[in-house]
Amino acid sequence: MTALTYCPVCFKEIPSEKCICPFCMTDIRVWSRSTPYTSRLVHALENPHSEVRMGSILSLGRRGDLAADCPLADCALRWPTDVVQGLEIVRAIDLLPSSPERREALERLILHPSRPIRRAAEETLRGFEPSLRPTKQKL
Ligand SMILES: [Zn+2]
Repeated sequence: MTALTYCPVCFKEIPSEKCICPFCMTDIRVWSRSTPYTSRLVHALENPHSEVRMGSILSLGRRGDLAADCPLADCALRWPTDVVQGLEIVRAIDLLPSSPERREALERLILHPSRPIRRAAEETLRGFEPSLRPTKQKL
């Protein structure tokens, strides 16, 4: 029996000895060598397997890479019912360096369909930008 693995590009199951994915025809070794680590982590946010996405979310937060905020918010919105993942995404975004993109990512998550995620995004935004309280109606 052949061991199976997943293509890192199209995420389909393939025999682990294959170097070229029979589905998307990607040369996996070339792709891995030529694609920066952060880009591979960002791409893995689209993986249908939640444990792969979670690993990527944790790594992106730890790495603090500026390019990660919007893809992380996209990921939380793509799987709206995965609350555990969504909360981890808010935490990961919180670990990223301060930037307009980080704020934008959290502002998008304030509109997330899941209430705990909306609340976590609100609290995180309030935590690092005290002037951005949602109660702006002080007339
Ligand atoms: Zn593939």
